[in-house]
Amino acid sequence: MSRVDVLGVGFDRLDLGASARALADRLERGERTIAITANPEFVMHSRRDADLRAIAAAADLVLADGTGILLASRILGDPLPGRAPGRKLVDLLVADAEATGAPLFLLGAAPGVAERAAERIRARHPRVRIAGTYAGDASPAGDDETVARVAAAAPRVLLVAYGMPAQERWIARNVARLPSVRVAIGVGGVLDQLAGVARVPPAPVHAVGLEWLWRLLRDPRRWRRQRVLPAFVFYVLLERLAR
Ligand code: UDP
Repeated sequence: MSRVDVLGVGFDRLDLGASARALADRLERGERTIAITANPEFVMHSRRDADLRAIAAAADLVLADGTGILLASRILGDPLPGRAPGRKLVDLLVADAEATGAPLFLLGAAPGVAERAAERIRARHPRVRIAGTYAGDASPAGDDETVARVAAAAPRVLLVAYGMPAQERWIARNVARLPSVRVAIGVGGVLDQLAGVARVPPAPVHAVGLEWLWRLLRDPRRWRRQRVLPAFVFYVLLERLAR
């Protein structure tokens, strides 16, 4: 089925449940899967960056991380069925990995965070196999060292927490050198949330789709990244008029 185009990035027509099933099915079949959960910042970045656009176009799954993409798809007249927030998707992916015995590797975040996230995951999913954790270095200079570590640990699922778009670039550069990895996905701040370094937005905030505002109020430095949001709204409205 064709993807839903939001300003040049194509999104798969999958809500959270369907996204998790797609990942689980592909994992079971052993199909190499690069998944991206993209938000409006990602879309705006892609507009200026042909490499990132190509990475999204080549990804096996491109999922709507939040409300912004969902609303944009509705305004553009080709509505996505729902959002697949990274944090919830990771919960479901980890549950599937526990059930099937697929080993996980947690890459990225500040030193120590991935280890704490792994402890939290083990507390909730006692049978999960964590093949390894490593903060590493998101830049190409760190690739060889990180690839050596991940390859030695031979995970089937690789969660990469270098923030958007560094994590998507990291996966695109390196996944071919990691033959054991079946599912690779950029998870942004999810390891921070799992580790308890960053608070998870309360359920009502999630229900009304205002995670971005909640995160902005808790960490005002995010305005730098979020200042592209008004432009996102502007371009979506412009595109709607053009259609
Ligand atoms: N990060 C990292 N190395 C970098 C840049 C970021 O490990 O060079 C980590 C950072 O510690 C955090 C995550 O990447 O755990 C990014 O979180 P953020 O909330 O910014 O992600 P996003 O909004 O892109 O989902």
